[in-house]
Amino acid sequence: MTDLENYRALPPAEKERLGFAKYQEELRQGTHNKDCWLWGARHYRCALERIGNLEHKLKGQT
Ligand SMILES: [Zn+2]
Repeated sequence: MTDLENYRALPPAEKERLGFAKYQEELRQGTHNKDCWLWGARHYRCALERIGNLEHKLKGQT
């Protein structure tokens, strides 16, 4: 997959937020942030981590 194809596969809201130039820039930098799990397969591990954190939070609530 090329960057452009990956970019096209992003959720519409992400495409609008990033733009293709910004997306490529973030790819180069390997950027992660609190919402990077939304960016797709590259951030699968981030999504897993996010789920783990949310589960932990839920278990803390009684
Ligand atoms: Zn990430």
